[in-house]
Amino acid sequence: MSHRSPDCGDFNRRDFLRTLSAAGLASWFGGQADAATPTKTAPTEAPASSPGQSSIESAGTASLHKLNPVPIDQVVIDDEFWSPKRKVWQEVTIRDCFSKFESDRGGAINNFDKVRLGQTGTHAGDPWMDGLIYEMIRGASDFLLSHPDPELEKQLDGYIARITAAAATNPHGYINTYTQLIEIGHEWGYNGGLQLWQHEIYNLGALIDAGVHYYRATGKTTLLVAGVRIANYMSDFMGPAPKKNLVPCHPLPEEALVRLYELLKEQPSLAASLPLPVRDDDYLKLAEFWIEDRGNNIGKPDWEKDHKAAEQFVRDQKYGSGRPSWGPYAQDDAPVFEQKDIHGHAVRATLLCTGIAAAARVNDDERYRATAIRLWENMVYRRMHITGGVGAFANEEKFGPDYTLPNDAYLETCAAVGAGFFHHNMNMAFGDARYVDELERTLYNGALSGVSLKGDSYFYENPLECGPSRVRWSWHECPCCPPMFLKFMGAMPSYLYATDDDSVYVNLFVGSKASVKLGGTPVTVRQTTRYPWDGAVKIDVAPAQPKEFAVMLRIPAWCKGETIRVNGEPVSSDQRTRGYVRIAREWHTNDVIEVDMPMPVRQVYAHPMVQADIGRTAIMRGPLVYCAESADNAQAIRGLCLPAKPEFSTAHRADLLEGVMTITTHASDRDLRGDSLYSTHPASEATRPATLVAVPYFANANRGPVDMAVWIPVVS
Ligand SMILES: [Zn+2]
Repeated sequence: MSHRSPDCGDFNRRDFLRTLSAAGLASWFGGQADAATPTKTAPTEAPASSPGQSSIESAGTASLHKLNPVPIDQVVIDDEFWSPKRKVWQEVTIRDCFSKFESDRGGAINNFDKVRLGQTGTHAGDPWMDGLIYEMIRGASDFLLSHPDPELEKQLDGYIARITAAAATNPHGYINTYTQLIEIGHEWGYNGGLQLWQHEIYNLGALIDAGVHYYRATGKTTLLVAGVRIANYMSDFMGPAPKKNLVPCHPLPEEALVRLYELLKEQPSLAASLPLPVRDDDYLKLAEFWIEDRGNNIGKPDWEKDHKAAEQFVRDQKYGSGRPSWGPYAQDDAPVFEQKDIHGHAVRATLLCTGIAAAARVNDDERYRATAIRLWENMVYRRMHITGGVGAFANEEKFGPDYTLPNDAYLETCAAVGAGFFHHNMNMAFGDARYVDELERTLYNGALSGVSLKGDSYFYENPLECGPSRVRWSWHECPCCPPMFLKFMGAMPSYLYATDDDSVYVNLFVGSKASVKLGGTPVTVRQTTRYPWDGAVKIDVAPAQPKEFAVMLRIPAWCKGETIRVNGEPVSSDQRTRGYVRIAREWHTNDVIEVDMPMPVRQVYAHPMVQADIGRTAIMRGPLVYCAESADNAQAIRGLCLPAKPEFSTAHRADLLEGVMTITTHASDRDLRGDSLYSTHPASEATRPATLVAVPYFANANRGPVDMAVWIPVVS
């Protein structure tokens, strides 16, 4: 979300404009354009011949295979790994974040009261604070749906009353506190304002999204009505000529409008009960306009090539039917359907793709499908770190070129979450297990690392190596990551299972119980497991009466040598359907699936084009990426090397980092002190025996300042 690194200090509109000017950026991206070829290669760990990856061959023209998520209120999580964390996030993190949004720099929540009271001139925080508060409400709503919490619900009701009272002061329901308090008269960036800075479409999209989630959690419609009102107004105001040519400079509203459309289509009685017109088809059309209109600014100034001309264009109000191009930073440099790779600001890019995938699932437009797949493959096979983190570069918080994946990368928590939303939406659209493999990678690694184990300190950046200067912060001047984290983890129960007409999908391995209906028959699916520490999963399948259907079982791409038994009888996992093992039979109560996924410690290597990882290996076990921290290792982390074929041992340590599996191996420790900076001789080969202890990456930086590394040099 933000536009600077955490230690940039004061940051104002002028800094923002200067950051975006990035004179060398256009040529930098242009220079990479030829390198972005259509991708068909498989992920590092999954050869193309792997049964689980067979769908890659046809992915470029994939047709829809829609899945329906099993919603949060039909899933109960009871899990050794996730339940304690979810309790911390609900009881500590949500409350900690709200209290900071109430108090930091005068309290961003108070901005709504100022609008209601007509008090102009001051605004707490950056223009996108409204959106962050709405994102908090969405995330908290999903947690409420899992675990009713009257005190939290009352708190949300209070915020919603203040937000909607402010929105009610405008005849159209328009609310953007920064514009109304500071940029008076500059709504939507017109009349000399700047939408790129004011973030109003992003903010309002987040309001609509929060309204949908809060309604689903509580049945209350106050915020939903405010969302429908502004969706109606935006549908009238922006769109194809003669409407205004406005797209969100920060994506997110694209998916939000699709979700609003889906809710109102799914529940016509809700639509009929609302005290204002509901125009659901218009909401989908507006989302499509926002996607399709990007990059269509031929002849208008380009913000990144000449931001002064672009700003002057805005200030001179030369809009006509156009607007400046917001450039590759905001994915506005070329029509979306012609964009060859995922680029620009990583949170923006992943949320735009999230919206494209959500729209593709609804409109089944071949251009949407092909674009979603093309950009997903480019991201996952060329531009994503092993933790699922994306957006390697601090400069503009952006994706770098293919295979440019430094270990001191930026990797904003928000970007990992955006990628996670994208993976999930792709699975819901195409029904392919490969998308869940990447969702799992992100969930357990690059996103989970964003909040401390105690739940009250946070990371903006999630690099794969660092020194002791990197410590978690208790709050941040751009606190975008905690709300995105809470949205992801709030929604996570709905990522476990899915259905189609005749199948139930087991996507993630989490101790849980799901209640679904297949062809009108209630079916209960219950998982018992110690995943991710152990690969044994017991799945009880219990239809209300005997019924034929299929259980679609995801075997992760990292897994080799799995065994599957149904009521004790072996089931082959060789044949896959869209990456899943399909177990079709007449199911009876008391039927049991037992899955055993061996979890040896794995050494993982990067593609040779990834320069930063040449001669290095990463350690993984199951879905977890491991890292070495100085808190566990006697030797300097940068001196540690692994032999080519180390022997690993594992131990579950209940006393460490809230309970983790550690990995230990013999290593060597290089003496780095004697080497010259440059020499005609190779660097010191003198090594001493050492022991390397690794802990899960998600738990890094929970023990004060440390050195940390994921990729460890290998010596022969
Ligand atoms: Zn963030």
